Amino acid sequence: MENVVDIKNVFKSYQLGSTEVHALRGLSLQIRKGEFAALIGSSGSGKTTLLNLVGCLDEADKGEILIEGVPVKNLNENERSELRNKKIGFIFQSFNLIPVLNVFENVEIPLTIRKEISEEDRKKKVMTALKDVGLESFASQRPDQLSGGQRQRVAIARALVTEPSLILADEPTANLDSKTAHHIIDLMFELNQKRHVTFFFCTHDEKLMNRVQRIVKIKDGVIES
Ligand code: ADP
Ligand code: MG
Repeated sequence: MENVVDIKNVFKSYQLGSTEVHALRGLSLQIRKGEFAALIGSSGSGKTTLLNLVGCLDEADKGEILIEGVPVKNLNENERSELRNKKIGFIFQSFNLIPVLNVFENVEIPLTIRKEISEEDRKKKVMTALKDVGLESFASQRPDQLSGGQRQRVAIARALVTEPSLILADEPTANLDSKTAHHIIDLMFELNQKRHVTFFFCTHDEKLMNRVQRIVKIKDGVIES
């Protein structure tokens, strides 16, 4: 099967005062098309660092990352943002919604820079994404009028609206109670099945993992199993 993500022997360190923190130390991993894969590891194991590299939000010191066969380090800034916008959707732990925009407008954001998409098409895509997460009747609400689980569903719709090949989620359930957390994982799984979007998400909560097809364990910046 085709790899959506191919991570080859990647290293990443941070300078912290006078010490160097080795966050990733020669990590390799492939994510295949259509997979629903979880990255599990304790706090500080390198999960966020890895997702940020895969999402082209940061660059590796050494090694190579390919997204649908394209090595990201050869891309210039414009090509990189285009890849990010067209192929990758992001979901964050703290939802990252814009408080002054309503639900519809938050989901619309990634489409507004796509000049080739007409306004009518854009509206259709936003409503489809909202329907997919069960929030079509909340379009005109503001984030602060929603529960945590609903906010995360808005963020999922925003990640989904561009029809990306890959959705990355960094601890998407960490700010939710356990029942809501299960619902969010179930929703992501449903979208993976229905929309054939590849999901790669991380968590430190192993209890959430009963629906997950593939579990990858990370420890001290390398894949453990
Ligand atoms: P996780 O998401 O699994 O908790 P991270 O990828 O955030 O792990 O962090 C991996 C390691 O890198 C940790 O030791 C962390 O303290 C360190 N680290 C992460 N980001 C930075 C940064 N911006 N500056 C310095 N150290 C960092
Ligand atoms: Mg993290």
